[in-house]
Amino acid sequence: MSKSGSPLLRKIVIFFLLTFLTSLHAGNWLNLKGTHFIVFFKENKEFAKEVLRKAEYYYRRIALDLGYERYSNFWLWDKRVKIFIYPNHSLFVKSTHQPVWSKGMADYQKKAIVSFYGSKKFLTTILPHEITHLIFRDYVGFKSNIPLWIDEGIAQWEEEGKREFVKKIMKILLYKGKLISLKELTEIDIRSINDEEKVHIYYLEAVSLIDFIMKRFGAVKFVEFCRELRDGSPFLDALKVFYPQIDNPLTKLQDEWIKYIER
Ligand SMILES: [Zn+2]
Repeated sequence: MSKSGSPLLRKIVIFFLLTFLTSLHAGNWLNLKGTHFIVFFKENKEFAKEVLRKAEYYYRRIALDLGYERYSNFWLWDKRVKIFIYPNHSLFVKSTHQPVWSKGMADYQKKAIVSFYGSKKFLTTILPHEITHLIFRDYVGFKSNIPLWIDEGIAQWEEEGKREFVKKIMKILLYKGKLISLKELTEIDIRSINDEEKVHIYYLEAVSLIDFIMKRFGAVKFVEFCRELRDGSPFLDALKVFYPQIDNPLTKLQDEWIKYIER
């Protein structure tokens, strides 16, 4: 026996000390654990429950949609994605340094999604959008030079109601002569564009293209295409997955896509 008391007492003291330090470090976050996600929250447990339920549902749906169900099954145990729900919008903005219009964000390296209590847009739009980015990045990694429209296309494609909405609006854009060519879409860096309408059209076209590719070629071919990109094939070479016999697969994809919009 030592001077500082019995081993049992010491264990108890250390246990409480550790618990106290952990809670200090986590800023008193409570949490709910699912199979692939842990939701951290401070109040409103019901909302946190709904977030967890939806996150697990989206996870299964997205992996299936994109053909990744065999590849993305490793978000388990300590690899679970963390979702942080702040009690309100201003706390969220203050803690994450996001712009005031932001309703949520994701840290792809840390595998965390952050939003705030009561955001409807979070449940139907941001949550599936950010989960898709995370699943996609898990598969293709961060090194490859993949056109941004593919990444943003699939992420929006998984938002509730987006596919139907885009289908209608693309026809209008086509007849108004407002579409950006697929070549330009692939080459421009959209983050450097200030023309708001152009940015808007860019994002809509991204969804429409993914919608077309998925319907025309299916998830198995899409995974094959992503694998090419992940392994470093230039975009134009990876397109050969869809059109192996065609000399100019970019033009072919553009032509078929336009026909799909017109239908
Ligand atoms: Zn995005």
